[in-house]
Amino acid sequence: MNQTIDKVKKDLSHLEIITDPNQITKLSLDYYHFSPILHKQLQDKRGDIVIRPTTEEEVIQVAQTCVKYKVPITVRGAGTGNYGQCIPLEGGVILDMTKMNQILWLEQGVACVEPGVKMAAFDKLAKQTGWELRMAPSTYRSATIGGFIGGGSVGMGSITYGQLRDRGNLQALRVVTLEDEPCLIELRGDEVQKVNHAYGTNGIITQLEIPLAPAYPWAEIIVIFDDFMQAARFGQGLGESDGIVKKLITVHATSICRYLHQLKDYLPENKHAALVMVSEYDLEAFRDLVHEYNGKISYFKTAEEASHRTSLLEYTWNHTTLHARSIDPSITYLQTFYFTLDKVEHFYDHFGDEVMIHLEFIKFQGKVIPAGLQLFHFTTEERVNEIIRYHEEKGAGIANPHTYLLEGGGRKTIDSPQLNFKKEVDPYSLMNPGKMMIQNNV
Ligand SMILES: Cc1cc2nc3c(=O)[nH]c(=O)nc-3n(C[C@H](O)[C@H](O)[C@H](O)COP(=O)(O)OP(=O)(O)OC[C@H]3O[C@@H](n4cnc5c(N)ncnc54)[C@H](O)[C@@H]3O)c2cc1C
Repeated sequence: MNQTIDKVKKDLSHLEIITDPNQITKLSLDYYHFSPILHKQLQDKRGDIVIRPTTEEEVIQVAQTCVKYKVPITVRGAGTGNYGQCIPLEGGVILDMTKMNQILWLEQGVACVEPGVKMAAFDKLAKQTGWELRMAPSTYRSATIGGFIGGGSVGMGSITYGQLRDRGNLQALRVVTLEDEPCLIELRGDEVQKVNHAYGTNGIITQLEIPLAPAYPWAEIIVIFDDFMQAARFGQGLGESDGIVKKLITVHATSICRYLHQLKDYLPENKHAALVMVSEYDLEAFRDLVHEYNGKISYFKTAEEASHRTSLLEYTWNHTTLHARSIDPSITYLQTFYFTLDKVEHFYDHFGDEVMIHLEFIKFQGKVIPAGLQLFHFTTEERVNEIIRYHEEKGAGIANPHTYLLEGGGRKTIDSPQLNFKKEVDPYSLMNPGKMMIQNNV
């Protein structure tokens, strides 16, 4: 491989190429270590060089060179994925897209961006025009829009707009192919699903057209409860309150609250908590709802006050896992669609303290449902699989975060249009090789 990489370096010497081993290590990895299983499998994987293109034309040159020498190419945004999505299994070129970070246009309700645009930076600008991203992960401050499309799925905003994969949440994108003569393909409408959440296996995204949401002043609030299921019912009730505009509904069992040290003044012992973002225009109705469920507001920041502090968002979604692991690195997690509160209650009673429940309410096929990012202490791989199996047997859906395979996580199936598209745009299987079960004949 060394001689081939030298040829790649020579052909692309006019581009920014990183060869420093420490930098390569840093840019080969992501947050795969949230899973001890992935940690064991991926910790030694590295690319050979990192290339940072700044234009679509440069991406085409990299694609052409990688095809010429049959070198694998692994695309990367900010590297905050947590399934090893952007860790190269077979070395080769890491294509770091963070310098392709131009907002190409921003209109009423829609924007066109390059993939390396950071989500929070985008929102800062968009909000000046009265719009904002429909949906963003809790890594909003550092994640790129291209990386969210390539590897993300849900986040703040999902209580209103559902999942990234839902029709309409991505309008169009442009990809560079890895054919003998790489070309640019534009996909619009349903066609975008061929590349949406494909872990960079189906072409290099160079432009995206994304729909926006009206921007509201989001108040950030914590409501505490004596009983976990009462907190969960409040989350469901808020989700179903169509007259209250909201962006985030998280519920943490008390066993999880104890890991959120920075919020300890607002999370008294033995209380369960809902962390929410609600439009400031709807606060009167929101307070009535809190009263109906016997909750107590322990933390309240207006949107203006919240903008000067760490957002509550960074105590929700997978940031909760991050905080817990910073205190106890033996903790790992699950990602679950509970679908109903009855199932939440069943698993809460069944696992007790072994599986600590963290709920995120989202819109799923038009209905508000509880999803979960539960925490538990890792013991063995067998126990992880038993816990997953039990959830599935009882009707919950698991997006397994302990596999780097595309179909093993949330995606589950690759249909024939996606597979045909893969064959068309990547005939030599150079894009992030090893990440698709169907390709590995698993
Ligand atoms: C603490 C923490 C919290 C998180 N919270 C959430 C959450 O709330 N919701 C959520 O969905 N995820 C979450 N994640 C996962 C991740 O942060 C997000 O999905 C994020 O949007 C990924 O963006 P990124 O720029 O870091 O992408 P990367 O990790 O760099 O890439 C992700 C995938 O996209 C591919 N890719 C990147 N750029 C391109 C491109 N231009 N063309 C083709 N493929 C590309 C990569 O190959 C990779 O497979 C969390 C992770 C952590 C560590």
